[in-house]
Amino acid sequence: MPDHHARRIRRDRAVHAAVAQGLLDSRRTPVAAFVDVAGIARTAAELLAAWPRELDVLHAFAAKANPLVPVLALLLRHGLGCEVSSPGELAQARAAGFPASRIVLDSPAKTQAELAEALRDGIALNIDNFEELERVDRLVADGAVALRTGVRINPQVGIGSIEAMSTAGRTTKFGVAMADPGNRERLLAAYAARPWLRWVHVHVGSQGIPLELNAAGVAEAVRFAQEVNARREGQIEGIDIGGGLPVDFSGDEDNPTFADHVAVLRDAAPELFSGELKVVTEYGRSVMARNGFIASRVEYTKTSGGRAIALTHAGAQVAARTVFAPKSWPLRVLAYDRHGLASTAELEVQDVAGPCCFAGDLMARERKLPKLATEDIVVVPDTGAYYFSSPFQYNSLPMPPVYGFEVSEGDVVRFHVLRAAESIEELVARSGVLPAGLR
Ligand SMILES: *Cc1c(COP(=O)(O)O)cnc(C)c1O
Repeated sequence: MPDHHARRIRRDRAVHAAVAQGLLDSRRTPVAAFVDVAGIARTAAELLAAWPRELDVLHAFAAKANPLVPVLALLLRHGLGCEVSSPGELAQARAAGFPASRIVLDSPAKTQAELAEALRDGIALNIDNFEELERVDRLVADGAVALRTGVRINPQVGIGSIEAMSTAGRTTKFGVAMADPGNRERLLAAYAARPWLRWVHVHVGSQGIPLELNAAGVAEAVRFAQEVNARREGQIEGIDIGGGLPVDFSGDEDNPTFADHVAVLRDAAPELFSGELKVVTEYGRSVMARNGFIASRVEYTKTSGGRAIALTHAGAQVAARTVFAPKSWPLRVLAYDRHGLASTAELEVQDVAGPCCFAGDLMARERKLPKLATEDIVVVPDTGAYYFSSPFQYNSLPMPPVYGFEVSEGDVVRFHVLRAAESIEELVARSGVLPAGLR
């Protein structure tokens, strides 16, 4: 059975079981998120298999795509590393059990303290700019050891279909802009003066970047590495190629696959596969998007100006990107009946709205779906990366519970709490306190 088919069956089983086991109780938790534990194992295995076995590759999952500690721990168990971009993500990676040797620190705005900690612990470090390089120089002069350190280049190869997700435009904020006058020579001189700079980092962007554009950026990093090595043989130990494999949100099938990415990279940057360079990857969305979904009860239905509207509990707080930029981030919405079985109601054009108090809080507009009724379930698939795992606090909606699920042979579904529903007490506790001096 094709993987995407098996994944869909697991999702259907999980929705039905979640209803049967009271996890989508309309009084207590009308919205919840679900993580496909077997799916994670499967995706990790596909990723590892897509890259040639003889290469030294660390697949450092981009924690921002899903920083839930149990999710990170599962990815570690299945052989991945972790890419982090803030002290919070670093702490989450450590809490998940990643050793420093499997952690990579990026971020364009690392503080002095973050840099010192990374060097002290032997965490791989990608320096963003010349000023940061000077800071690292001072730490090295003070005795710090730069074990796995490189500079992020901006290959300026162009932007994809979502500008906010494109990191290799001419004026993008990340990395050293390689086509700007003088920068290439300046960076070559910087590497020549610092034998401890042994890596080159590039990340062309996230979603909306064609594979060929991604590969052109990687090829530029490889070219730069060869220039460094021409001046001092063997200086560059490896290339960190970043992430950015897009996900097709219009259906269940993986397109492109990790193997497709490797094939395009082989064409554009064959030297990456020579065995002389180590490789780090930083895939995020492509690892987790498919392995999570959101489910919500329909609280009410109505019509407005002739438009059918289903009011649900899944909106901007769990799907900020889709709500605020629906053209760039369309998600499918699947209709299930009140028992959690695929809906067989007649198709109708509807808006599927969230609970937030602004009119644009819509998961889908004018979408043809089985006619939704109160108590039905809507499922938003492909939300395992960048959605429920990084909720938005608008309207003080509590963070929904996240359940990992496993489907056993006899179709018995077991749920595990990965993140408990945030209680109203916890929500109030994070809302500040009037200090004594102001009372
Ligand atoms: C966001 C990000 C990634 C992951 O991107 P995906 O599109 O989720 O694969 C990798 N590396 C860096 C530096 C990033 O900022």
